[in-house]
Amino acid sequence: MDERIRDDFPILRRHEHGKPLVYLDSAATSMKPGAVIEAEADFYRKSYANVRRGVYELAAEATDLYEGARAKVASFIGARPDEVVFTRGTTEALNLAAWGLGETYVDPGDEVLVTEMEHHANLLPWQEMARRQGAHLRAAAVTQDGELDRDDLRRKLSPRTKVLALAHVSNVLGTVNPVAEVAAEAHRAGTRVVVDAAQSVPHLPVDVRELGADLVAFSGHKMLGPTGIGILWGRNDLLSELPPLLTGGEMVREVWLNWATWDSPPARFEGGTPPIAQAIGLGAAADYLRAIGMDEVRRHGEELTALALDGLLGRPYVTVYGPRDPALRGSLVSFSVAGIHPHDVATLLDQEGIAIRAGHHCAQPLHRRFGIPASCRASFYVYTTPDEVERFLAALDRVWEALR
Ligand code: PLP
Repeated sequence: MDERIRDDFPILRRHEHGKPLVYLDSAATSMKPGAVIEAEADFYRKSYANVRRGVYELAAEATDLYEGARAKVASFIGARPDEVVFTRGTTEALNLAAWGLGETYVDPGDEVLVTEMEHHANLLPWQEMARRQGAHLRAAAVTQDGELDRDDLRRKLSPRTKVLALAHVSNVLGTVNPVAEVAAEAHRAGTRVVVDAAQSVPHLPVDVRELGADLVAFSGHKMLGPTGIGILWGRNDLLSELPPLLTGGEMVREVWLNWATWDSPPARFEGGTPPIAQAIGLGAAADYLRAIGMDEVRRHGEELTALALDGLLGRPYVTVYGPRDPALRGSLVSFSVAGIHPHDVATLLDQEGIAIRAGHHCAQPLHRRFGIPASCRASFYVYTTPDEVERFLAALDRVWEALR
């Protein structure tokens, strides 16, 4: 990775407690390059107006920028623009998916299948949908190595399973799930497949058609884009069957006092004034990642993950969760330090300027599966350097010496 990339991220010049910031929490949210900050600011400075409703030139320009951003994101994931719905983030996208699929396809006695490794954002919307529809929620197991138990998934997949929702990459274990193979199996059972791609689209080359899913959700803020913007991708024929989650302005064709007809996708799902500046910022983020090349982003992430894994596995006081092979992982490693609470580890690392995540990472059932209440997580992105990973490992030894 080109060293000059770091210069594009103004926040990385910060110091914490007198030490240069080592930011190892990109799985929670990524930092923003100047190009993204400027794209958003420029829109407010030069082209700001509401979209889709004005006939004047400024409104047309704002609409072009907003729709241009949709086209950039679509091409980033190998999709068509009319298949890309802007949401506030992965959470909203998955809620939209659960609402729409529930209303359309799920009846009392049906089943919805998730996995034990889901983020709460890909669990609670399905819990709620199953409760509303009188359906049963089941979960495919995770093996001790942190992989999806494919046999268990096969056992739980039946003609009653209306939806399978699973993560592409686990935000705790790092596991890259074989989504294309699993989706093919699910489709043979007549099941619709929803993929939480919050941790994959930012880090791996993802082509939604190769993924083979029916709906795919991800967030802008984890891929160098702004907060408040995310995506639900869906095949247009499927999106056309789903009802909206939010009703209101700009998502309708005809409105009478007692009834209304919905617009076609994606407008149907974007009721109200959308996050316009954020969408434009996300378009700039897609441009930035594309200029680096997603193969290079992946290669760099794998190199850093290999370095961190190697260092952590070589320390007897550390337990690592998830696959041992960096090729089977996203750009993150979760671990525990023997007898020391993850919050204490993170607090002491912070004293050295190193920011890692400690907690259950919004995956309580998964932590319960491994018999722990919480873990530490270090995660990496395009601006992370091997030197930073080495500094983290050396600082971890000092934490261990201080608290053992
Ligand atoms: N799914 C996974 C795997 C995640 O890692 C996250 C964020 O941490 C989410 C869903 C939720 O994303 P957001 O908070 O952007 O809606």
